Amino acid sequence: MTAQVIDGNALSRQLRAEVAQRAAALTARGHQPGLAVILVGDDPASAVYVRNKVKACADAGFHSVLEQYAADLSEAALLERIDALNRDPAIHGILVQLPLPAHIDDHRVIEAISASKDVDGFHVSSAGALLVGEPGFKACTPYGCMKMLESIGLHDLRGKHAVVIGRSNIVGKPMALMLLQANATVTVCHSGTADLSHHTRQADIVVAAVGKRKVLTADMVKPGAVVIDVGMNRDEAGKLCGDVDFENVKEVAGWITPVPGGVGPMTITMLLVNTCEAAERLGA
Ligand code: NAP
Repeated sequence: MTAQVIDGNALSRQLRAEVAQRAAALTARGHQPGLAVILVGDDPASAVYVRNKVKACADAGFHSVLEQYAADLSEAALLERIDALNRDPAIHGILVQLPLPAHIDDHRVIEAISASKDVDGFHVSSAGALLVGEPGFKACTPYGCMKMLESIGLHDLRGKHAVVIGRSNIVGKPMALMLLQANATVTVCHSGTADLSHHTRQADIVVAAVGKRKVLTADMVKPGAVVIDVGMNRDEAGKLCGDVDFENVKEVAGWITPVPGGVGPMTITMLLVNTCEAAERLGA
């Protein structure tokens, strides 16, 4: 069997076109969606991510602001900027690019963002809303993975067994909750899991969010399963690759997401969706 590829670029184009239409309607009513992105320090990977986010905003007709600060910015100064952006009516979403320099407390900074502008979905109240099934901003990466499942007709996952590898607060845990809310039976694996393949071989859906190459190999996958690869790693040649041994797993799986061109573009797309929704809520 050769798996069908779930094309994150194509799905993103479709969803971003829909968001652009919503943004145009809001702009016509005087509420152009606005995103503020804050980058502290000079991490090259973070600089690329924020540039891509700001460009995606411009392409969708959003107002966007990129604020870049030196690595020695104090936590107090950063909190002051967030406070100003919380009160800025032209800004509906605030994103602080992580990781922050070690002297700044990530948690304190995220919690300083108004819950109504938490378009990354990292705020405790956003996580709590997801936990209890109330409306709130969903973390962009797992939200994008759910949209990928929906794009292949998997809306209600009743009767499906999903295995999530990874339990971070920004990917693995919210992913598990979103799958659970779509009625899947969910197993969450992590570095303490004994015999990972025992779990993955039973799964109809596997989401790999680890950050290590070839965590999921062909012998670990049930024939026909859906494989979603969140990982972002570099191979020996410096080329971007995921957590999944793509070349071999695609011969066993039914559906698979590539890296690049899979979950990555979907994450930015869902940031636009969340920002548009924030503008709709705040400017309705
Ligand atoms: P993280 O915080 O480092 O979490 C990694 C998780 O993997 C942890 O839960 C860890 O277990 C688990 N783990 C480590 N080794 C394992 C193993 N051998 N077997 C099973 N589980 C193992 O990373 P993250 O922030 O969730 O990100 C995960 C990956 O996704 C990274 O490559 C990151 O770059 C990528 N990512 C991509 C996007 C995107 O837009 N495409 C967005 C976010 C993240 P413990 O909890 O026990 O330590």
